[in-house]
This record gives sequence, C-alpha cells and structure tokens, in this order.
Amino acid sequence: MKLTSYWLDTAEPAGDFRRAELPGQVDVAVIGAGLTGLSAALHLARRGARVAVLESHTVGWGASGRNGGMATTGLAISFPAAVKRYGPERATAMFTAYDDAIDTIEKIVTDEEIACDFVRSGKLTLAAKPAHYAALERSAEMIERLVGRSVHLVPRGRMRDELGSDRYHGAQVDPNGAGAHVGKLVMGLARAAAGHGALVAENAAVTGVRRLGPGHGHRVQTTRGVLTASEVLIATSGYTGSLTPWLRRRIVPVGSFIVVTEPLPDDLVAQLMPHRRMASDTKNLLYYFRPTPDNRLLFGGRARFALSDAQSDLKSGEILRRAVTEVFPRLRDVRLDYCWGGLVDMTMDQMVHAGVRDGMHYSVGYSGHGVQMATHMGKVMADVIGGDPTVNPWKGLAFPPVPGHFGPPWFLPAAGAFFRALDAVR
Ligand SMILES: Cc1cc2nc3c(=O)[nH]c(=O)nc-3n(C[C@H](O)[C@H](O)[C@H](O)COP(=O)(O)OP(=O)(O)OC[C@H]3O[C@@H](n4cnc5c(N)ncnc54)[C@H](O)[C@@H]3O)c2cc1C
Repeated sequence: MKLTSYWLDTAEPAGDFRRAELPGQVDVAVIGAGLTGLSAALHLARRGARVAVLESHTVGWGASGRNGGMATTGLAISFPAAVKRYGPERATAMFTAYDDAIDTIEKIVTDEEIACDFVRSGKLTLAAKPAHYAALERSAEMIERLVGRSVHLVPRGRMRDELGSDRYHGAQVDPNGAGAHVGKLVMGLARAAAGHGALVAENAAVTGVRRLGPGHGHRVQTTRGVLTASEVLIATSGYTGSLTPWLRRRIVPVGSFIVVTEPLPDDLVAQLMPHRRMASDTKNLLYYFRPTPDNRLLFGGRARFALSDAQSDLKSGEILRRAVTEVFPRLRDVRLDYCWGGLVDMTMDQMVHAGVRDGMHYSVGYSGHGVQMATHMGKVMADVIGGDPTVNPWKGLAFPPVPGHFGPPWFLPAAGAFFRALDAVR
C-alpha cells in the first residue's frame, strides 16, 4: 500500500518549479500553491498582473492534492441551519455560491483545456439514521422553495437504485454535484497559470511579510530570496502557520483520511455506485466515497480527530478499512492500494472567510468543501484584488478566534470524543 495521494501519484507533474529565479518585484505575491492560490494566479495573470505563487513544498502538496475530488453542492452546514443563522436571502446567496463554484471549475477546465475527468455525476447525501432522512426531506423542501431548483429524495426502500449497500436510511440527490481528478486539476491550473505568465516557485516558504508603508506594498521574505509585492494573498488553508498568527487562531487544522482500493471490475462498480455519484453521509465524523476514473473505490473520513502524519494516516487507514466493509460488506477482502491524510481548515462557524487583514488578502476556511470553493475563491480574489470587493460572497462575516487556540490544536482528541458522542445520540 502506498502512503501517498492516489491523485498526485497518477497525475503528470506540471513542471519543475524548484529553480526559477524569483523576480524582485511583482504586483501580487500569492502564498500557497493549492487550488485557491493557483486559481487566483491564473485569473490575475490573465488580467495582465505580474504574479508570483510562493509554495513551501510542491504544487498541490496541501489539501488540494489530497482530497476526495468531490466538487459538490451546498454549504458545510445544512441549508436549514444556514437559513436559521443568516436569514433566507443571505443563506440562499451562500448556497448558490457553491453552484457558481462548480461552474467556475467547468469553465476553467474548458477554457484552459485541462483534462481532469470533470463530470457532473451528482451528489448523494446519505442518511446515517432514520431521523437524518427526515432532516434531508426538510432541507430538500427548503432548497426547492428558496433556491428554486430541485434535488430529489431516495427513500430507504429505493436505496438499491443508488447504492449497493443497506447501511443507509435514505438519501438526497443533487444533480449539480461534480467530481474531478484533482491531481490533474491542480497540475493543470499550475500549467495554465504559468502559461499566462505567472511565476510558480516551489520550495519557497514565506518566512516573513512586512508592510512598507502606504502605497509601497510589502517586503516578502522567502527561503529562496526576497521580493516586493504591491498585494499579498494568503492561500494557506489548513496549513496556515506562524507567518499569520491572526489567521492561525481562527483556523483549526483537522486531519481527514482516505484509502483507495485496487481497481474493481466494471460490473462490481456498477452494483456499488450505479450512477458514479459523489457520496457522503450525515454523521459529524462522516464517511465520503466515490469511484475514481479508473474504477477504484476512494473512501474517506475524519476517522480520528488527529493531525495527519505517516503514523496517524496508517492508524486512520485501518479504521477506514473497517468502514469500507461496514458500508460495502462484499469488499471485505479488497486490496487497499493507497492511504493518506491531509488537513482540513475548519472555522468556528464552518464558513469560508475572505477579506483583508494587516493589508494582506486572505481566503480560507473551506471546512472540507474546498475543491469547488477554493478554485472559485481564487477567481473571486483576483477580482477583489483587481478592485471589485462586491463579488466576495463571504464578505462581512464575523471571524472570531477559536478560544484557547494559539498554535498546534491540542484540543483535537477532546473535540473528536465530543463529536463521536454526538453521532451516537443524534
Ligand atoms: C483528506 C481531505 C479530503 C478532502 N475532500 C474534499 C472533497 O472531496 N471535496 C471538497 O470540496 N473538499 C475536500 N477537501 C478540502 C479541500 O481539499 C480544501 O478545502 C482545498 O484543497 C483548499 O485549497 P487551498 O488552495 O486553499 O489550500 P491547500 O491546498 O491546503 O494549499 C495551501 C498551501 O499553502 C502552503 N503554505 C502554507 N504556509 C506557507 C508558507 N509560509 N509559505 C509558502 N507556502 C505555504 C502549503 O504548503 C500548501 O501547499 C478535503 C481535504 C482533505 C485534507
């Protein structure tokens, strides 16, 4: 079993970005070469801006090369919960921002000819308990009434139309959900950004940013040299560190883990997931799964509330192996070819936060729903930096720090125990 991301293992690297000399001056320095940073760089470069993307490791090394590749609809919280919290109008605008985000991926991959198996196979939300199905019914009614488009319900008795499993108590299907090979997507974005003139620099950790006074931009110190940038965009997501202490206090990095099986026979995949949808369940410590383009089953979950490292990934892989069998008993003896983990950037309200702090732009907090939204927010932040702040769907949201959180998240095991207990009773 390889302890590496299946997506990065099966994508052509976008190029060698480890050596190119850094320019002395740019219009925009983007920190982080994931979907946010690369999409921002692409859209800024298309506008004619001089852009440098500065990445500590390699393109897609963060969550962008490690996720489930599920570009799904809806917020990280349920639509009824969003309506209760923000009111119908704002909640509807936030919900439809995810539809726009999927459209953004589709437009980029079409315009830039990125072959990344993007397909609108639909999103399947699976009720882990009977009461959760009732909640899905309420949310479907509300989506239809307020958003004005339909999602359909699958009662328990018809679940075999959607899934070769009896584990779930019904489901909601949103046809707008999509999937992609994220390794090919993130590499394609890097290639496209570079093709439009952006400089992508790997092994270039940013170690300090200093404001040079009104109108003079920022001095950006990296492990590969110094540059001056008129604007800075922080796109560091769950890997946000001591460079931006204000942001770090507001983001909890939580490990999410994935296993990928050996390739499965076509007829077995057709029985397990006949419509090849992007599936996730309604638990707090949820499972999510999908077929890969080459007919493997990718199965992920927040198996444990822990950070990701080789040992943690392996422990989580064992938990996920049992989970695969729990959902699909006929995969009891399947071989697992890949196991890895990565960090999700959770915020207190599980909402995206994008704005300006200390003169630097940021977009973070995708809370496990960033394949579509990070790519979209890259485009949005390019427009914001270009002078139009009105396009930011998340503007004005309060962004409080997480109490007691100043560095590594010492409280994860307690949070995990809390959510496990919640899953047991609700
Ligand atoms: C296991 C897993 C499964 C997921 N599954 C899904 C899914 O199926 N669907 C979905 O919508 N979302 C999913 N997500 C979330 C999604 O992957 C992220 O929201 C998204 O990729 C965030 O992109 P990003 O570009 O903002 O950040 P990242 O891709 O995390 O990139 C941040 C980058 O910043 C770099 N960096 C940090 N500090 C510095 C510094 N000082 N200098 C230079 N570089 C720095 C890091 O090295 C990193 O490469 C998943 C996440 C994980 C971990």
